[in-house]
Amino acid sequence: MSDAVESLMAELLARTPGEAPFHQAVREVAESVQLVLDRRPELRKAKVLERMIEPERAILFRVPWVDDSGEVQVNRGIRVGMNSAIGPYKGGLRFHPTVSLGLLKFLAFEQVFKNALTTLPLGGGKGGSDFDPKGKSDMEVMRFCQSYMTELYRHIGPRTDVPAGDIGVGGREIGFLFGQYKRIRNEFAGVLTGKSVTWGGSLIRPEATGYGSVYFAAEMLKTRNQTLDGKVCLVSGSGNVAQYTAEKLIELGAKVVTLSDSSGYVYDEAGIDPEKLEWVKELKNERRGRIAEYADAFDSAVFTPRDPSADSNPLWGHSADCAFPSATQNEINEADARALIAGGVYLVSEGANMPTTAEGTRVFLDEKILYGPGKAANAGGVAVSGLEMSQNSLRLSWTREEVDQRLHGIMESIHAQCVATAEEFGTPGNYVNGANIGGFLKVADAMLAQGVV
Ligand code: NDP
Repeated sequence: MSDAVESLMAELLARTPGEAPFHQAVREVAESVQLVLDRRPELRKAKVLERMIEPERAILFRVPWVDDSGEVQVNRGIRVGMNSAIGPYKGGLRFHPTVSLGLLKFLAFEQVFKNALTTLPLGGGKGGSDFDPKGKSDMEVMRFCQSYMTELYRHIGPRTDVPAGDIGVGGREIGFLFGQYKRIRNEFAGVLTGKSVTWGGSLIRPEATGYGSVYFAAEMLKTRNQTLDGKVCLVSGSGNVAQYTAEKLIELGAKVVTLSDSSGYVYDEAGIDPEKLEWVKELKNERRGRIAEYADAFDSAVFTPRDPSADSNPLWGHSADCAFPSATQNEINEADARALIAGGVYLVSEGANMPTTAEGTRVFLDEKILYGPGKAANAGGVAVSGLEMSQNSLRLSWTREEVDQRLHGIMESIHAQCVATAEEFGTPGNYVNGANIGGFLKVADAMLAQGVV
């Protein structure tokens, strides 16, 4: 490995101990962009990469709230503004007990490159809280969101920072957050995306990340003159991204055989059809139940509980053609990656952010499968968030068909950009380099033009 990467990483580890996912994300990008820095010494001299790995700002705040039994609860709120060279900070909010500053720095860092790849004027940020919405009543979630926004409102705005949803933050939470912002600021502004269509949201925003990941997969298959029709697909997760990934796959003729949550996964050998998927949406979005119930409802399905002591996930061991990890970070390790290859998988399109460990990624690259990394394959969500911002500014709403067409066009263009960039830098077919370098160049040139800020 190059000396430049090793010394960058040594310094980063010393400055930011305990932020493992952030280190993992930085190392991957640093390795890819050495190819650029060797050709563009002015970027090295201006320490563009060194500046990119330091957040422009990170805000930590207390979020006190009162639960249904009258007890006071205290959570931590965080918002990281990673880079605003090409636009206001943009990126989701995650509510999950594992949220920490290091986790959000990794997500904000990934977001910078992803947003640049969409070709929209969006900087990168991410935020969230260690609050766990699971098992909370609607009123508890509302009180938490109101308290969260009571601090966050000072730091965001349509031209400064525009948050969206992520794990644990869907339509319900965005509604409560938006209501509180509007009340405090006395203005109806496009300050959050993922809003409901009746009050400023965009059609296709809920579907965008999942649909986009499938469009990206279809583009990758096109390079081998194939389509998704008839392909057997493994999908993980059962939240927003997984649901709409499955929906678009089924629509394009693929057979989806798995879904999961943090308690385990279901394997349905008959395939998940549109009626079963509607059942899952109701289970997860309305009843907020567990995926295990799917196996009780449908005879063709088997539920396997998660074994926390196991060093691999049996979901990835089923025979299939394509895999769409759509749950969380590092859900595919080296053993899982090898199991996927052994089971016949030759396409992986990442709906989740960094779902594959560094070792797993190496397996995919060595095997030369069609491997679409998250920052390219799941960029459809933020792309339609960008379109939602445009519609808010224009004060109009595009039709479902128009937004879907734009989303499709953006995913095609991200794919083309990855392919062309990977080739230009001597690594044809390597979408990881294509995405990292493509995103980096756009942000790096803007930073160079704007001076040392
Ligand atoms: P949701 O909260 O809607 O769903 C998350 C799903 O992943 C749930 O099924 C959840 O199960 C499962 N999950 C979460 N954490 C874990 C864990 N630690 N172990 C196992 N399973 C877990 O989130 P989204 O669908 O929005 O997000 C999924 C992924 O996609 C994330 O990586 C997110 O960053 C990424 N992403 C999302 C975008 C969006 O537009 N929403 C845009 C781009 C990327 P359980 O309910 O049991 O926790």
